Amino acid sequence: MSQTSLTPITGPSAPNFFGMSRERLRAHVEGMGVPAFRAEQVYSWVYQKHVRTPLDMTNLPLAFREALPGICDLELPETASVHKSPDGNTHKFVIRLADGARVESVSMRTPKRLTFCISSQVGCALKCSFCATGLMGLKRNLKAHEIVAQVVAMGEFHGWQDDRFNIVFMGMGEPLANMEAVTETIRILHDENGLNLGARRLTVSTSGLVPQIRELTKLKLQVGLAISLHATTDALRDELVPVNKRWPIAELLDAAQEYGRTIGRRTTLEYTLLGGVNDSLEDADRLASIARSMPSKVNIIPYNPVPGLDWKRPSKEAIDRFVERLLPKAPAVTVRHTQGGDIWAACGQLGGLS
Ligand code: SF4
Repeated sequence: MSQTSLTPITGPSAPNFFGMSRERLRAHVEGMGVPAFRAEQVYSWVYQKHVRTPLDMTNLPLAFREALPGICDLELPETASVHKSPDGNTHKFVIRLADGARVESVSMRTPKRLTFCISSQVGCALKCSFCATGLMGLKRNLKAHEIVAQVVAMGEFHGWQDDRFNIVFMGMGEPLANMEAVTETIRILHDENGLNLGARRLTVSTSGLVPQIRELTKLKLQVGLAISLHATTDALRDELVPVNKRWPIAELLDAAQEYGRTIGRRTTLEYTLLGGVNDSLEDADRLASIARSMPSKVNIIPYNPVPGLDWKRPSKEAIDRFVERLLPKAPAVTVRHTQGGDIWAACGQLGGLS
């Protein structure tokens, strides 16, 4: 079809680019009478050359470039604010979505890598007792384009300097309660003609939705799985992570083991250390025993206090004592030394909240 016969949809009714897989974009442009290879070219401009301004996509015909904003929406949601930790390595982004809802994303730089923590829901229904996001309740699920846009916004902020960034679904919300958008996001991030993020660079964290873990296993997306354990007995986990009452620890570990076996990866056991609650030597011994029962690595996250909640961060001595007890007994242990506690405290899970 000739370029002049393009009939772009006007304004906001054009579907959002960032929620479309390459296949969907191909079908979409074809449906508008444009050859499918134009979709490939746009994908490459946006995700590989990091150009979002249609007129700058210089190998495309001018008429197509002019029509592009009406074919798909390439705008990112507004980044309302960016907060930097004192050491400069951690940034929290507050993103304002089209309906005015706000979500938060966090980038964290360590000597080895840059990691983006992204949100999957506005609020969260699961009400983990130490989590600021849980206090909000669930407002809504994010759409795939609103999740992908967080990655692009942080990539642009950092000037796409690091090609080797990792993504963790550990921000606001329970990712597996928004399965469709999260799995679509993973496919978009994977695309070899897109950002081409290997599965090993993606991790989905769950508080323990066992049926959805089993569903993810069947999809064989190869992404890493982190489970927000936080307690080694059902009695305590029922209190900290109420979804445990529905799917207790043994069922959760069984589903996680099956996932790990299927994709051939270790499961990350996230363990937020709460002062005087789950930081005893007996807790460390039970955690080590769970860690040894499956291919796993333990990630210890000393809690960052949240205004309005009574939980406390353990003392440095208590953290050291717990880790020293755990280290020789567990196969792999990392301790997250959070940077800029107030920044992390707002980010659903990575904020030391689960
Ligand atoms: S810790 Fe995660 S799953 Fe639990 S309430 Fe907060 S955001 Fe939801």
